[in-house]
Amino acid sequence: MTKNIQIHIPGFPRIGAKRELKQALESHWRGETTAEALEHTGRELRARHWALQRDAGLDFVTVGDFAFYDQVANHIQLFGCEPARFGFAPATPPLQRYFAMARGVGNSADGDGTTPTACGNPACAEHAGQAEQSGHEGHHGAALEMTKWFDTNYHYLVPEFSPLTRFALAGERLLAEVAEAQALGHAVKAVLLGPLTFLWLGKSKRAGFDRLSLLQQLLPVYGALLDQLKTLGVAWVQIDEPILGLDLPGAWRSAFDPTYWQLNQVGVPLLLATYFSPLEENLSLACRLPVAGLHVDGVRAAHELTSIADWLPHHKVLSVGIVDGRNIWRSDLDAALAALAPLLAKRGGKLWLATSCSLLHVPFSLAGEDQLDAEVRGWLAGATEKLAELALLQQTLAGADTAAALQQSRDAIAGRRASGRVHNAAVAARLAALPADADRRAAPFAARQAAQRERLRLPLFPTTTIGSFPQTAAIRAARAGFKRGELDAGQYRGAMQAEIADAVQRQEALGLDVLVHGEAERNDMVEYFGEQLDGFVFTRYGWVQSYGSRCVKPPVIFGDVARPRAMTVDWTVHAQSLTARPMKGMLTGPITILQWSFVRDDQPRARTALQLALAIRDEVADLQQAGIAIIQIDEPAVREGLPLRRGRWDEYLGWATRAFRVAAGAAADTTQIHTHMCYAEFNDILPQIAAMDADVITIETSRSDMELLAGFGQFRYPNEIGPGVYDIHSPRVPDAAEMVRLLRKASAVIPAGNLWVNPDCGLKTRGWAETEAALRQMVAAAHQLRAEQ
Ligand code: GLN
Ligand code: ZN
Repeated sequence: MTKNIQIHIPGFPRIGAKRELKQALESHWRGETTAEALEHTGRELRARHWALQRDAGLDFVTVGDFAFYDQVANHIQLFGCEPARFGFAPATPPLQRYFAMARGVGNSADGDGTTPTACGNPACAEHAGQAEQSGHEGHHGAALEMTKWFDTNYHYLVPEFSPLTRFALAGERLLAEVAEAQALGHAVKAVLLGPLTFLWLGKSKRAGFDRLSLLQQLLPVYGALLDQLKTLGVAWVQIDEPILGLDLPGAWRSAFDPTYWQLNQVGVPLLLATYFSPLEENLSLACRLPVAGLHVDGVRAAHELTSIADWLPHHKVLSVGIVDGRNIWRSDLDAALAALAPLLAKRGGKLWLATSCSLLHVPFSLAGEDQLDAEVRGWLAGATEKLAELALLQQTLAGADTAAALQQSRDAIAGRRASGRVHNAAVAARLAALPADADRRAAPFAARQAAQRERLRLPLFPTTTIGSFPQTAAIRAARAGFKRGELDAGQYRGAMQAEIADAVQRQEALGLDVLVHGEAERNDMVEYFGEQLDGFVFTRYGWVQSYGSRCVKPPVIFGDVARPRAMTVDWTVHAQSLTARPMKGMLTGPITILQWSFVRDDQPRARTALQLALAIRDEVADLQQAGIAIIQIDEPAVREGLPLRRGRWDEYLGWATRAFRVAAGAAADTTQIHTHMCYAEFNDILPQIAAMDADVITIETSRSDMELLAGFGQFRYPNEIGPGVYDIHSPRVPDAAEMVRLLRKASAVIPAGNLWVNPDCGLKTRGWAETEAALRQMVAAAHQLRAEQ
């Protein structure tokens, strides 16, 4: 007899409790270990993770969520659609082809994997090592492009589709893993990406080609795969169609019905899984599809649960993702039970419970965080703790005596809610008293521009850089030594000041107009600030996979954010003391800090953003007070914070741009505020970018040959712009002529008086030799442009 309440998870982190997969991959890529050894590690990790699921009491283990690099890449092999451009010889082993697609061929790309970063954008400086491989479109062996998995900081490899694409059931891996789990005695739920989501996530390699037209060809291959899974005797196949939570074009929506009608013919029970977003206009479509069950995100689509419970026919399984798979907070089990009660009543007591989405997006466990105090640790839950929460919910609903465990959970929730460490009255008071015009500079841009010109007296086409200079081995060693206590504070400060002096001297020798201190003291642009702010904690092992073997360890914002003291003033003032040229202060903006952290779930993101904004605002005021005339507030993550549904963009952009303006709002008219954003499609949010009202914005645009800038021109972007004139993702040194050409192109769309000259992004991943060579050319290009005016 099957239980009324069953529990499962859409997926589990595969990197391993101690990032074993990362180590195994990187040593294999270095040629130190064989493919067999890597496969062995994979098998061990799977076995361990399935055992954890079974031991926690899950009714099925999930098979198919494992990948040596990326789950989407697994599907490319599974469905036999490796791009022909790789020209693989028939005898090339599948794993070798797989890594070639993931990492490119003819590249020694082992830069990745060693230094964790907080950056969510593989196209920016923080991820330059990887972007280098994929940056060269057209090179036949270039890695597949990477892009963000929905609104997460995980990056998947983008399938390439063209009229020549053919599908065939090619990969053996999934079937072998199912057999592996069965041999270990597990009840198996296999997981697959649905055909529509798979096609959606890919890109058309020929202009005008509609990848949806490949569906008819793809479906029989899915059918054959499902048939084999059925033969193997899997209990369920979870088929992920998260695109049901997006604004879908009509043709894609109407493809769902016939697709699932066809796949359902195979006769293996299908659990259609959606996550990350409410279903909205796709709700009744999702409920009606001819499948055996539907999984919905009980956190992001909580308000839809009642209608789904009503609309989903009673013979179908409803799986409610009640435990948050996107954040690291312990669940409020009382609230969960209260939310489930009416659903259970509607569903005749039958329900599946799950995490909202795959646990890929949370750390493996937070139980071993020995440097967090027990109180804060008790508020957190990683993947393994979330399994236990599901089990506790199941047991409670099955009538077991769980009072003691529930009480413990209740105490932790109550403790967090009441904690004086979470709530800071001064912060609340400041927010409440914030004047409505705190987000406004005193004068409009034109007046500020005049005042700043008067003060700064910069030449036309002023040259600058984005902030970071090469993070040399010596810098990293000093920072690590300081963290380990081998260098004392004085020695560390001395070492960093020497690095700053070196950077200043090199910039003066190059003849740059606006200098930076180089960010030697920063390991990471978010962590550096988080470590100095109240309301943040840092885990030791809270790694989350970002792509391939790369993991990030996002800071945790658990309480009201406040800035106890200045964070950057000493370094910046020291740097300014070494030069007569303007020294640009360098800050990370509130939205980027928010976006690259785990954020508290007990208040709206907008409120946390505003608290961060006030902390940065204070830093702006202090820098200004110390005589710094130019302050850059980096916001590379503004674009990636956009909600999945367009209908919510305005709301987000409203509070996000206001947070930026509040941060910048302390600047006097004579203080020039810069912002920086990395490569992204900005054209659809130009009015909002303009509304941030930074005096200068630097953007990455060299790789698009200034195409990106055309939008700014058409929109008549009112303030000053520094379009990146060379790509920092490559060690190649561009020549001045190339940059002159780009700058002339830029002057055609932006008034020359509003143009700055700078690289695309920060230079932390580059070496000094190539950096100086490139900047010398850049300065020469600016001089040539000035001469032409
Ligand atoms: N100021 C930062 C740097 O130069 C900006 C990095 C980024 O855009 N991600 O490194
Ligand atoms: Zn950047």
